[in-house]
Amino acid sequence: MIQIAKPLIGKEEKEAVQRVMDSGIIAQGPKVKEFEEKFAEYIGVKHAVAVTSGTTALHIALLAEGISPGDDVITTPFTFIASSNAILYCGARPVFADIGEDYNIDPAEIEGRITPRTKAILPVHLYGQPADMKGIMELAEKHGLKVVEDACQAHGAEYDGKRVGSFSTGCFSFYPTKNMTTSEGGMVTTDDKGVYERLNLLRSHGMPVRYHHDILGFNFRMTDIAAAIGIEQLRKLEGFNEARIRNARLLSKGLSQVKCIITPKEYKNRRHVFHQYTIRLDGFRLGRDELIKNLNDRGIGSMIYYPIPVHKQKLYLDLGYKDTLPLTEKYSSEVLSLPVHPSVTESDVEKIVQAFKELE
Ligand SMILES: *Cc1c(COP(=O)(O)O)cnc(C)c1O
Repeated sequence: MIQIAKPLIGKEEKEAVQRVMDSGIIAQGPKVKEFEEKFAEYIGVKHAVAVTSGTTALHIALLAEGISPGDDVITTPFTFIASSNAILYCGARPVFADIGEDYNIDPAEIEGRITPRTKAILPVHLYGQPADMKGIMELAEKHGLKVVEDACQAHGAEYDGKRVGSFSTGCFSFYPTKNMTTSEGGMVTTDDKGVYERLNLLRSHGMPVRYHHDILGFNFRMTDIAAAIGIEQLRKLEGFNEARIRNARLLSKGLSQVKCIITPKEYKNRRHVFHQYTIRLDGFRLGRDELIKNLNDRGIGSMIYYPIPVHKQKLYLDLGYKDTLPLTEKYSSEVLSLPVHPSVTESDVEKIVQAFKELE
């Protein structure tokens, strides 16, 4: 079976974990600090704060940017639920804007939704494809809005030669299926010293000094065990990303010969790191569920990310959301992700392409 996702844990990670276990410091300690410094350097920012997940990264990033009850945050409905739930955790309201052909929030859809309540824009770099950061940063500047980037699928992706997560305050996940892992884990990146200081307080019970509590914080601390895995994974990340890009280009080359399949776009000024390789079915002979079953019968894993847009989820319908967002709704009914991770081999790619040729 060619799996849709597969973490790559080697002996380096195992030995690093063993050393942390032997050191006796297993909660947040020197390894977390080292991981933060190395990750900040990789992204190209001054500061990074390690946390327990991508979800908690988004939560405290929004709080550190000052998002509070009564605020609106404009975001994409075509994402994993955590992107907009983090806005709800702050007592603020997600406002959904439709997406473009890159599957990311379309700047042209944002401006008409800006009101005096709007405090921030939360773009997601979905599938590892950077959002249109030029358009988004121009709007933010023009209207005095904060930007929090959900880069949970985009470690190492670039826009105009700049890594995502460095345009403003960035959030990353290290869940096992992501481009790099720490088991569970997350990171916030920023150049802003004030945001950095608030992130530190929010992560650990609002404590500037032990047992002095200045603000309402949380326990979102990463362990040194997780950080030790992260340091080794970060060393391998560029190799992983290059393998993903190579596999994606081979898939696109093969699938370009198959009728009624739309392959993912690569833009000249953006580096797509293919967290997912996602095609769209445009009148394909088989329906999507039938195609998934046929691929599965041939030993090929596939997955729909995401079958229900956020504004159509029960939670959001119950909150009163009634949006109609045409491209989001169209694309979520057509997309299918295929295996692209670093363990996928050239012969796996051939097998996938061959399956489509037989099924078209
Ligand atoms: C994975 C993911 C998250 C959440 O990260 P966790 O580590 O699972 O909490 C948030 N946003 C997006 C787009 C993701 O893919």
